Amino acid sequence: MSSTDTIAAIATPPGNGGIGIVRVSGPQVPRLAQVLLGRRPRARHAHLCRFADAAGEPIDHGLLIHFPAPHSFTGEHVVELQAHGSPVALRRLLARVVELGARHARPGEFSERAFLNGRLDLAQAEAIADLIAAGSEASARAAMRSLDGVFSQQVHALTEATIRLRVWIEAAIDFPEEEIDFLAAPALAGGFAQLRQQLASLLADTRRGVRLNDGLHVVIVGRPNAGKSSLLNALAATERAIVTDIPGTTRDVLRETIDIDGIALTLVDTAGLREAEDRVEQEGIRRARLELQRADVAILVSDDDDTDADRVLLTGLPATATRLLVHNKIDRTAAAPDRQVRADGTHLWLSARTGAGLALLVAELTRLAGQGEAPAGSFSARARHVAALERAALALEAAEHALTDARAGELAAEELRQMQHALGEITGEFTSEDLLGRIFADFCIGK
Ligand code: GDP
Repeated sequence: MSSTDTIAAIATPPGNGGIGIVRVSGPQVPRLAQVLLGRRPRARHAHLCRFADAAGEPIDHGLLIHFPAPHSFTGEHVVELQAHGSPVALRRLLARVVELGARHARPGEFSERAFLNGRLDLAQAEAIADLIAAGSEASARAAMRSLDGVFSQQVHALTEATIRLRVWIEAAIDFPEEEIDFLAAPALAGGFAQLRQQLASLLADTRRGVRLNDGLHVVIVGRPNAGKSSLLNALAATERAIVTDIPGTTRDVLRETIDIDGIALTLVDTAGLREAEDRVEQEGIRRARLELQRADVAILVSDDDDTDADRVLLTGLPATATRLLVHNKIDRTAAAPDRQVRADGTHLWLSARTGAGLALLVAELTRLAGQGEAPAGSFSARARHVAALERAALALEAAEHALTDARAGELAAEELRQMQHALGEITGEFTSEDLLGRIFADFCIGK
């Protein structure tokens, strides 16, 4: 796979900085580098270079490094022009490169070429974007592991096992005259059981990978005066928190959000969840509902003054979210901080005012985010990967049923082929242009 276009972009973030890099990839690179340097560059050598425009007027001086194909990030000829981090100088340098025959790169186009040239698979390319966007140390480490291929290797191992089973079944179909009924062999049932277990374990790890990547979405709800704002403020005062304002209108029902190590906590004002006439308020309510629906964890704050009202709120929480019931204001009764797991959720006793028991809540959230107990080999993943694995699981189940219920070997083999296809979508063995477009469009320019 080779591209005819030569692409170029400023690869460093916008703004002023010590260094800024223009990256160029494609067949025109050797010629282009020679013009800029005034002679042929050596491979992977840092040449001190005076960058100048067509009229010979200097733009900046910096380093020029040529990575001849295929030993580059994209697998094509690449040249990196390292100048000073001046947006004006970088723009001029980019314009010069375009003048010499390159075109502006689309977002993610360098990574897309690296994928198309087999330098990395799709899950690894996605891991680069995830590493760049990582909001916490845990998610950065996990993305790095995916980039190293930890996730892809497990998908490949599963694919191999799927193929082995399919080949076995196809062989059994092709030789029906054999004495033994291979389709009924215990080894086949064992093969299915093993595959099922392998897939379930990968699915669990991948789900955790998505949580590590996306962070945990936590909503805080409760009756007025239960202490929601106080709790959020107390959490925001912890060292690890980053406080951000959700931009919106003054009557926005989402009041605040804070971030603790990639765990986003949003205060949803449930009083605002009533029917509203006003358009602005309706928009706020729409966002509050959305926030509730996507929540991984819902914290119900209560001061135990009106337990009936709390029960109503509890039933209104999304069924998919893990429930934490915070009994606030323990300073009033001098009760000790406590954590109890009950049928309706995990209960925590604390005081937002004194901070007593706050650590219990932080520990609980960290645990739910999968960071506290993330095994050493945890990798990052995306919702798309989970969806593909779920499709693989359905196909596997169908294959097993086809075989055990109906002895339908061909159908079972076809289902296993579907499973293989679903797994291949993760690493990009099977992709559509549409899917690639969607994935790489989310990347930044110059990556
Ligand atoms: P919200 O309406 O749920 O956001 O509640 P606020 O955070 O505004 O708190 C309501 C009232 O309860 C305020 O007067 C707070 O000072 C008080 N409050 C909040 N947390 C505590 C606590 O842990 N102990 C005590 N004694 N009062 C608290």
